[in-house]
Amino acid sequence: MIDRYGRKIEYLRMSVTDRCNLRCIYCMKEGGVCKRCHSDILSIEELTDIARAAYALGVRKIRLTGGEPLVRKGILTLCKNIKAIDPMIELGMTTNGSLLKEYAGKLKESGVDRLNISLDTLNAETYHTITRRGNLSDVLDGVKAVQNAGFVRTKINTVLIGGVNENDILDMMRLAENDDLQVRFIELMPMDIVRGWDKSRFISVDVVEQHLHSAELIGYDGVARIYRPTGYKGTVGVISPLSRSFCDRCNKIRVTADGKLKPCLHSGEEIDLRGLSGEALTAAILQGVDSKPKCHRLGEYHTDTARNMNEIGG
Ligand code: SAM
Ligand code: SF4
Repeated sequence: MIDRYGRKIEYLRMSVTDRCNLRCIYCMKEGGVCKRCHSDILSIEELTDIARAAYALGVRKIRLTGGEPLVRKGILTLCKNIKAIDPMIELGMTTNGSLLKEYAGKLKESGVDRLNISLDTLNAETYHTITRRGNLSDVLDGVKAVQNAGFVRTKINTVLIGGVNENDILDMMRLAENDDLQVRFIELMPMDIVRGWDKSRFISVDVVEQHLHSAELIGYDGVARIYRPTGYKGTVGVISPLSRSFCDRCNKIRVTADGKLKPCLHSGEEIDLRGLSGEALTAAILQGVDSKPKCHRLGEYHTDTARNMNEIGG
């Protein structure tokens, strides 16, 4: 699938639930989500059908996200269903890591190839402040569990929040010093819940790159610019949606937990996939690709979506 701006679209991100066991301050309200009934959320069969239709159109990489994908009932069945479409599909999952101690081995057995674990700090108090209810030790145990289960090149995603975790950057980087991990720093995006936050909370990845001037620039991994600091086994990446947009390299489409295809994370446009199958589903996916905007306006602290990240999946 080639969009109107010549970008090859081969990556699908599917949000499998908008619910979560944490309440990160930049993602969800303290009270959580207004509970949608189960029938408002795509079933495992519907998610599988969308994955199959997207695969037939050329998608070769699928990432399951949420909300927290590991609280979704049937998640392991969904992983197996997707791998059954074609074992060559690269299947990834983005998770907060809190349940990985229990799930790492099961995810491996169910065909998941890659894991991205969200972790913004190594300070237990700051971690609790950011997630409102998480325990740092659960995530660190989870990171060990995925390594023991045989996952390689696991990514750690760290959202930069001015005045909250900007002093933790070096500690976070060091996670990649002796381990095959890629620690990636991501600029905070102005979704609805953080719209009113002071501009000082939005810090550029420049603050990370200041620590990387003697590191080797390896190149790009998707939208992340990747460095290997001297002597490091793993790598450090930066993702800069605000300060240096990468829309010209965007190869993704997204599906929300309630079945809307989003051509861009930050566009207001949504195409309803629910109830569609066969040619109608294929046509709706192609319509989404065709309406991918050239770029977003995050540089102006503006997003056109009214959704928070837990509904889209990042
Ligand atoms: N619950 C899983 C997790 O936390 O990894 C998956 C869903 S979460 C919405 C996906 C990613 O979005 C996480 O890495 C999270 O840190 C990021 N995220 C959420 N809100 C964000 C925001 N306002 N700006 C930047 N990243 C955000
Ligand atoms: Fe949950 Fe992930 Fe959002 Fe945190 S970022 S509240 S873990 S969905």
